[in-house]
Amino acid sequence: MYFRSRVVALVLAALVAIVTVAFLSLLPDSTATVMTVAALLSFASTYLLVYVAFEFLVMREISEIYNVLNKMRKKDFSFIEDYENHNSNNPLKRINQEIFKYGINRNKEIEDLKKLEAFRREFLADVSHELKTPVFAAQGFVHTLLDGAADDKKIRKKFLKRAARSLDNLDALIQDLLTLSQIETGEIKMHFEHFNIVTIAEEVIDQLEVKAEKKNLKLKFDADYSNPIFVHADADRIYRVITNLVSNSIKYTMEGSIHIGFEVKSEKVQVYVKDTGVGIPPEHLNRIFERFFRVEKSRSKEMGGTGLGLAIVKHILEAHNTKVSVISTVGKGSTFSFKLPIGQSAEEMEEELEEERLGLESLEEETL
Ligand code: ADP
Repeated sequence: MYFRSRVVALVLAALVAIVTVAFLSLLPDSTATVMTVAALLSFASTYLLVYVAFEFLVMREISEIYNVLNKMRKKDFSFIEDYENHNSNNPLKRINQEIFKYGINRNKEIEDLKKLEAFRREFLADVSHELKTPVFAAQGFVHTLLDGAADDKKIRKKFLKRAARSLDNLDALIQDLLTLSQIETGEIKMHFEHFNIVTIAEEVIDQLEVKAEKKNLKLKFDADYSNPIFVHADADRIYRVITNLVSNSIKYTMEGSIHIGFEVKSEKVQVYVKDTGVGIPPEHLNRIFERFFRVEKSRSKEMGGTGLGLAIVKHILEAHNTKVSVISTVGKGSTFSFKLPIGQSAEEMEEELEEERLGLESLEEETL
């Protein structure tokens, strides 16, 4: 129902004036002049009071609510910014604020859904494209062989090798996609344990040393880590993280060295992989962890990169409540690092258990 504040004020003012005059007429010494003045005064003051109260306290808020509802209907959420920090004791204003809050939440939901939808579309397009490339290449080699190239022994071997390489790339891509989706859906549960990170890094070095040597790169620790450094994490996943980081360093370093290092600081162990490679331009630094993002597509593909290595690293570290950082200078190299909570050695754990056991025993004795 829509009614104007002015009409309401007029009606109420007239009523009050009539009541006032009626009351005054009952008094024996009230004259016509007194009644007229009283009627005019009560009319004017009631009109002003009701009009101002209505206009400023009620109508304004009601029309504001109408405005907001209209805007929400038209999916125009521009009002949100103006009202986000509003706070009031007026109940109408509070209703308005509730509507604003509802609008804000709805707007956020809509934005999130839009982003998810865009992400889903983009991801599907990326996956199809990435899958198509190796399949297309392998298909080409096999068809060329079928069309007669197989007769020549040399060409046959060359083409079969290339088809095999494309299929290997396809396999690596599918494996990475599976790992990512399993981590995301929580299918892979993290298995936290106390272990020596130096041994894990040594295993990575042993596994990738030959690859580095083929490119004349030195792959080693930056210092002598003869004492163990214990961390509390999922050993297999951290092995995967270091492997991905070191593989990248080998891929994107043309000459020089790759160093793995550790720094123990306030209950945390910082692990870093440092290379003297091509580096990453600053504008790409926060994008390299996105799926399929590559600074140089051709170089990555040439090196057999799936474009998912760093996305996997990011996901694994997120599951450890930590994150990966990168510092890089184009032409000089990059340093990737992450922190893990410090762990305990088997002896330390044994000692702690023993202390707990002794504590329990003395408690039992005391209660007896
Ligand atoms: P890819 O399979 O292409 O290596 P990643 O997700 O592992 O995919 O890395 C994403 C991109 O980040 C790479 O294509 C490369 O451009 C860049 N990158 C990653 N690590 C390094 C590094 N150590 N040095 C230079 N560039 C790197």
